[in-house]
Amino acid sequence: MKTHHTTYDIVFSGFGASSCILINQLHKNKELDNKRILILDPLEKKTNDKTFCFWANPEDDIVLDYQQVLTHSWSKVNIDTSKTSEITPFKYHHLNSEGLYQLTKNILKGYDVTFSNEIIERIDENTLATLWTKENRYTAQLVFDSRPPKTTKNLSKKQNIWQSFVGYKVQMNGTPFDESACTLMDFNVDQQGATQFVYVLPFSNREALIELTRFGKEIIDQESAEKVLKSYISQNYGEFSIKEVEKGKIPMFMDLPKSVQTQRIIPIGTRAHMVKPSTGYAFKNMYRHAQQLSANVGQSRTQVKSPRRFQFYDRLLILILAVWPKMGKPIFSRLFASKPLIYILRFLDEKTGLREDVSMFSKLQIGVFLRAVVYLFVEKNKPFVLLFFPVILFFCLELCIPEYSQNIMYLLIFIGLFLVGIPHGAMDHKTGLFSDNKKINLFFIFKYLGVMLIAYILWFISPTVALVAFILYSAWHFGETDIQEWKINSRFVGFLWGLIMFSALFFSHVSELNVILKALSVQQLPLELPWLGLFFWSLTISFLLARLHQSLPWLLLTCFLALSYWLPLVMAFAIYFVFHHSWSGWKHLRTSFKVSNWSLFKTALPFNLGAFVLFVVLFLNTRMGWDYNIAQIFIFISCISLPHILSMSYFYKKLKTKRV
Ligand SMILES: Cc1cc2nc3c(=O)[nH]c(=O)nc-3n(C[C@H](O)[C@H](O)[C@H](O)COP(=O)(O)OP(=O)(O)OC[C@H]3O[C@@H](n4cnc5c(N)ncnc54)[C@H](O)[C@@H]3O)c2cc1C
Repeated sequence: MKTHHTTYDIVFSGFGASSCILINQLHKNKELDNKRILILDPLEKKTNDKTFCFWANPEDDIVLDYQQVLTHSWSKVNIDTSKTSEITPFKYHHLNSEGLYQLTKNILKGYDVTFSNEIIERIDENTLATLWTKENRYTAQLVFDSRPPKTTKNLSKKQNIWQSFVGYKVQMNGTPFDESACTLMDFNVDQQGATQFVYVLPFSNREALIELTRFGKEIIDQESAEKVLKSYISQNYGEFSIKEVEKGKIPMFMDLPKSVQTQRIIPIGTRAHMVKPSTGYAFKNMYRHAQQLSANVGQSRTQVKSPRRFQFYDRLLILILAVWPKMGKPIFSRLFASKPLIYILRFLDEKTGLREDVSMFSKLQIGVFLRAVVYLFVEKNKPFVLLFFPVILFFCLELCIPEYSQNIMYLLIFIGLFLVGIPHGAMDHKTGLFSDNKKINLFFIFKYLGVMLIAYILWFISPTVALVAFILYSAWHFGETDIQEWKINSRFVGFLWGLIMFSALFFSHVSELNVILKALSVQQLPLELPWLGLFFWSLTISFLLARLHQSLPWLLLTCFLALSYWLPLVMAFAIYFVFHHSWSGWKHLRTSFKVSNWSLFKTALPFNLGAFVLFVVLFLNTRMGWDYNIAQIFIFISCISLPHILSMSYFYKKLKTKRV
């Protein structure tokens, strides 16, 4: 049973850098007076577990506030061994975490503070904030939460990499250091398939911290890092002895999970995205955040947020480092060669203007950056690139080689059908609706065929009723898949969208629709009705609903429907089905089952091949005439769709309650 303690005014969840910086600031602003304070951290925080550096003007508040624990400040910086720059008006400052923790503990001696070495398991907010540890339960008016954010494994490795490092504190026996200059990035080391550089902080002419740092998807391996490091030190400085080994990693993540600030729980530090992704520096951001928080204790939201432009630059750089790691060294080398260091530091502080940035990028490997922009665009808009690519291709083919355009398009659709179209429907056993143990067994097959039979019987009773039913349940299914993608939480809205989609496709292709209706023995539509007007209204309603739900993807699909006017009916529907619907459904299954594309494809392969053979047999059987074939394929698809749609509806329902 957990012991409940009296309520604290302020609880610091974690006693790391951000908590210390905030405590110092709150103390400075007299915000800790008469407060009952609790600090929870599993560690004692007595050792030097990190060293912090930042650049700042010696008159800046941040320098004055930490003057007493700054161990060194350099006014000159080397980029590699050949180039040294003055960084006036800045200096590059260094402090040890041990100094920061001790400074903060000394300050706290004047207050009513309880330290406890406990791991916080959960923090909730009701009328007060409640913190749950293994042993105890605490309540608080205000919690500053610096527990590291959870970095889930399924974050994209193209946008979330690591800065990892292995360093030595060394004592030199050979060449003495120039202690007036530190080295920020010396790329003259083996890159080991990533972007690597050496960082040198000389504390005296005999002592320095020398680190090998990697920007990359994989964390640096200590053994191979030490080899590179030893060879670098002996080549550049001669004999040395190792006093201490430091290693660490900093997330250079663009997609750290969002930690929402509430009235009583305020994320700080890395948890509050204070680490600049492209550099790993956080100290100054944490200081700025602490200033804002202590000026607004208990008040509205406070945020230190990068301007969008700089977030975009960070994204580009991380992508380049992740996807083309060999480009890191040439890009940084050219940057340092073409721009003064002081400008680069201002750029990293996000204080430069757009014009300056354009001039800087024009001096870099602009081709790589443009490639990264296109790559990012395609990655971010993959569903729409997939959807619009075939449409644009068709228009181009019609212009250049109209006699082959349809054949090429149907070949493309056929390949898509084999790769995702059919496989996305081959996972129905996995959803659990027709198979309790999520396996294909006789019972599953029996139930599945049973549902198909219901749809088939309907075609015998009345083709018109069967067709209307088919359109209705398909509209439900397409809508349900799309609203899942668009994060709209109403199945009714999804159904409405499905109906609009069919209406727009049918109203703009009535003659082609009539061919299918005739083959199915269903009453054809009178051509004299104002179908184009209805098509226009369908698009308008779709557009208004997309606006109402502020959904850009919905808007883009409305554009697709508008373009479909110039495509044949079957082709337009097949493009939507294969390149949008099936791809989305496939993605939902893959992420929910936490499997790779390949393993999902393999699971679907037997069913996929079976369906493929059946499809070809039906398609190539021309004895009964073309119309008969179309009708048979259509009826077959309507029958096989029904159990799939029921299965997927069950899947999406469970997905909402996260029970898949
Ligand atoms: C080795 C290293 C060197 C760095 N150097 C620099 C630098 O030179 N300049 C710079 O600007 N930035 C630097 N950074 C980045 C950044 O400044 C630091 O990561 C900084 O420590 C972040 O502060 P924080 O409070 O978010 O995290 P931390 O300082 O790691 O503090 C988090 C605290 O939470 C505690 N905790 C964890 N889980 C729980 C739990 N469940 N319950 C309670 N407590 C918990 C931890 O024990 C820890 O004390 C460096 C980072 C690393 C890792």
